[in-house]
Amino acid sequence: MESLVVPIFVLDARCRVVVWNRACERLTGVPANEVLGSSDAWRSFYKHPRPTLADLVVQGRTAELSALYDDHQRLCDDEGNLSAQSWCDMPRAGRRRYLAVDVSPIHSEDGTLVAVVETLRDMTAEKQAQIALEQLATRDGLTGLANRRCFDDTLHAEWQRALRQGQPLSLLMVDVDNFKQYNDAYGHVGGDACLQRIAGAVANEMRANDLVARYGGEEFAVILPNQALKGAAIVAERIRCRVEQLRLPNLGVGNQCVTVSIGAATVLAAPDTDPAGLIATADAALYRAKHMGRNRIGLTLDAAPAAAAGL
Ligand code: GH3
Ligand code: MG
Ligand code: MG
Repeated sequence: MESLVVPIFVLDARCRVVVWNRACERLTGVPANEVLGSSDAWRSFYKHPRPTLADLVVQGRTAELSALYDDHQRLCDDEGNLSAQSWCDMPRAGRRRYLAVDVSPIHSEDGTLVAVVETLRDMTAEKQAQIALEQLATRDGLTGLANRRCFDDTLHAEWQRALRQGQPLSLLMVDVDNFKQYNDAYGHVGGDACLQRIAGAVANEMRANDLVARYGGEEFAVILPNQALKGAAIVAERIRCRVEQLRLPNLGVGNQCVTVSIGAATVLAAPDTDPAGLIATADAALYRAKHMGRNRIGLTLDAAPAAAAGL
């Protein structure tokens, strides 16, 4: 065990460390002579007191697994082996690591637990790659907002929730006015920077449960769960003002500053409706706002039942 490349430690039936191999010393930065004989294996992994997986098995506290680990599995071999993964502070190594740990209890012939072996694998690089992939899959690269795929998934989930809870659901479609002229005047790099500023301004107006996404090009979409049309109109007006207050000159359109037009729609989700209808309704409201002169809000009252309108 001492010379294995896999980090391993072993606890006896009183949670005292009886083996702490060299690979475990390298991983934790804690020499064996500091930890052998103590019941403090956890200190090498966590800043705040909490048991290691081996401690939990020795103490028969496996009911706490879900609370303490991101993920855990019981291996289906009837030997009582367990696997779990979580972030560890690694106070002595000085760098947080994502560790996958496996434990195997060792029993005497009469079935008494005599020790628990814990092996550790550093999965930090894999975990970071997974987080980066999730980020790539759900975030828009230019603005950092939720991307179209994340918007579609969230709208679907919120639709289901609204249906279950009988709550209204509102949607805002936000479109930058005369953005083609902006690009013509400042180039695409300038246009990109402008989109980033607008994205930041819109995101600043959101509550924790709202979702703002880049729907495409110079269009943003905002999902407002449990929000009736009256509340949605207030949020839309705040967004419109916020963007106007950025005072980003749009030389392409005389002396004007960059503005947005917003279409707002609300429905009380009914079983025979679907989210596509809500998007179409918000789009129609947006185009009305454009035709009425831009830098304004279009509301869709007619398609919304009175309860959803909240007026
Ligand atoms: P309207 O007020 O009617 O919305 O006019 P508009 O010019 O904003 O609308 P139009 O659809 O004609 O043009 C949208 C422009 O947005 C054209 C396109 O080049 C630009 N655009 C879309 N995506 C991006 C992007 O990621 N970066 C930049 N810089 N421009 C983009
Ligand atoms: Mg557009
Ligand atoms: Mg536009």
